Amino acid sequence: FAAHQFKNEPLTDFSRGQARDDMRRALQDVQAQFGQDYPLVINGKATTTRGNIVVRNPSKKSQTLGTVNAATPDLAAQAIDSAKRAWPQWRKLPVGHRAEYLELMAAEMRNRRFELAAWMVYECGKPWKEADGDVAEAIDFCMYYALAMRDLTHALTCDYPGEENQTYYRSRGVTVVIAPWNFPLAILTGMVAAALVTGNTVVMKPAEQSSIIALKLFNIARDSGLPTGVLNYLPGNGEEVGPALVRHPDVEIIAFTGSRAVGLEINRLAAEPVPGQVSVKRVIAEMGGKNAIIVDNDADLDDAVQGVVQSAFGYAGQKCSACSRVIVLSEVHDIFLERLKAACESLVVGPAEDPGCDFGPVIDQEAQTRLHDYIAIGKEECQTIVAGDVGKLAKEGFFVGPHVFANVEPESRLGQTELFGPVLSVMKARHLEHALQVANSTPYSLTGGIYSRSPKNLQRAREEFQVGNLYLNRGITGAIVQRHPFGGYRMSGIGTKAGGPDYLLQFLLPVSICENT
Ligand code: NAP
Repeated sequence: FAAHQFKNEPLTDFSRGQARDDMRRALQDVQAQFGQDYPLVINGKATTTRGNIVVRNPSKKSQTLGTVNAATPDLAAQAIDSAKRAWPQWRKLPVGHRAEYLELMAAEMRNRRFELAAWMVYECGKPWKEADGDVAEAIDFCMYYALAMRDLTHALTCDYPGEENQTYYRSRGVTVVIAPWNFPLAILTGMVAAALVTGNTVVMKPAEQSSIIALKLFNIARDSGLPTGVLNYLPGNGEEVGPALVRHPDVEIIAFTGSRAVGLEINRLAAEPVPGQVSVKRVIAEMGGKNAIIVDNDADLDDAVQGVVQSAFGYAGQKCSACSRVIVLSEVHDIFLERLKAACESLVVGPAEDPGCDFGPVIDQEAQTRLHDYIAIGKEECQTIVAGDVGKLAKEGFFVGPHVFANVEPESRLGQTELFGPVLSVMKARHLEHALQVANSTPYSLTGGIYSRSPKNLQRAREEFQVGNLYLNRGITGAIVQRHPFGGYRMSGIGTKAGGPDYLLQFLLPVSICENT
C-alpha cells in the first residue's frame, strides 16, 4: 500500500530562536498586507460584487485585515456551472497526475508555512503553535490522500471461468465544500484535496471569518497548475449562498464541516430532489460535539488535570474535539477540582500574536455574547469554580476568560449544549457505570476520554463510551492524520473518518464490469 509510506509533517519547535524569528517576520509581512480587497474566483476569473465581508482580527477588533467580496446565489450557480464544465477533463486525468497536484500544494504550503500560520493568527485568533499545527495538518491531508488515492486505482478483480470481473472507482462530479473557521486551512484543505484527488471538481465556500486564508489555499492550488474551473473560490454568507449551492441540481456531493444545526439543514435540503436533478446527493457532514473526559478514582490526577486543561482550553475551547464536560468519580472529585482550579488560574489569556499566551480570543462578537450568556446561566445554576477575568483585554478583542463550573446537572443547558468556548462543566459520578451513562447522555458522539489505572475500567470504556474517537489516559484533542482517523457519529456526523483509509471512498462511485470471455 502506498499509504504505508506516509509520514506526518513535523511540527515547528518554537523553543528554537530561528523558528521564533521566522514567525515574527511572517507576522510583520502579513500585517503589511492588511487592507486589501479580495475577489471571488469563478472559472479562473476574479469577480467582484457589491457585498463585502469585512475580516477583523479577533485579538484586536479595531484592526481590519481586509475585505472579501461575497457571493450571491447567482454567482453560486455560475461557480457550479464552472465546476461542471471542468469535470469531464479532470476526471479523465490519470490518478497519479491528480495526486501530484496535491503533492505540489503540500510542497508550497511547506515553503510558506510561517506565512500561512501568521494569517491564521490574525484572521482566527489562533496562537502560534495551533496555527502551525493547522498548516502541518493541511500538508498531511494533501500527502495522505495523494497516497491513499493511488491505492484505490488498482481495480479489484474476481475472475471466474468464462468471465472477467473488475470493480473500480469513478469520480462522482461537482462537489460543494462548506467549511468552518476553526481549522481554517486544515479542514478546508482536507475536504478540497479529497474531492480533487478522487476526480471531482469543487466549489469551495469557506466560513466568512476565514475567507482570506481560504483564498491563500485557492491561490496555492491555482499556482500548482490546477486546470481552470476545477476549483472555484466562493466566499459568502452561508445562509444566503448555502441553500443555492446545496439545492443545485448539478451538485453530486456536499462535503460539510460545521455545526449540527447547519449540517442537519444541509442534509434535509439535499434530500429533496429538484427539477433537473439526476442523482441522490451524497452528504458528508462532520458536526459538533459535547465531549467528556471521565476521571476515575485511581487516575493519575496530575496527568488528568493537564489533559483536561489542554483539551478544554486549547484554542479557547473552539475545537469540535474540545473537552467541555469532566465527569469525576466521587472519591477524587474534590481533590481533582482543587487542582483543576489552580491549573486554570495560571492560564495566560492574551492576543494570539503573543507567543506567551495559552489561548487567545474567541472568534467574534457573536461567539463572545453567546458565551457570556451561558456563563451567566452557569453562575446562576451551578457552583462557580473559576471565572477568569480578562481585564482590559475585553476592550481590545473578543476575549473570554477560562470558566469552570461544578455541580452541573447532566441534563441542564450547560450539560448538553455545545458551547464552543473556554467553559468547562464538572460533574460528579457515583461509579464508572454512572460516569459512562452521563458521558453518553448527549446526542453527540465525537471525542471522549478516560483517565484510569484500571485495565478493567479502560476496557469497559472501550466497549461502552459512545464516541468516534476515544482517548485513554491522554487529552482528547489533536487527532493526527492516519494515526487517529477523525470523526463522530449520532449527531456528530454522517460519513467516515477524515484522515483515514475509508474517507476517499465517499467521494467515489464503485462500478463493476463483467465481461463474458
Ligand atoms: P457553522 O456555523 O455551522 O458554519 C459552517 C459553514 O457552514 C460556514 O461556512 C457557514 O457559512 C456555512 N453555513 C451557514 N449556514 C448555512 C446554510 N444555511 N447552508 C449552508 N451553509 C451554511 O459552524 P462554524 O461556526 O463555522 O464552526 C463551528 C462548528 O463546527 C462547531 O459546531 C464544531 O463542533 C463544528 N466542527 C466540527 C468538526 C468535525 O470534524 N466534526 C470540525 C470542526 C468544527 P458562514 O460562515 O457564512 O456562516
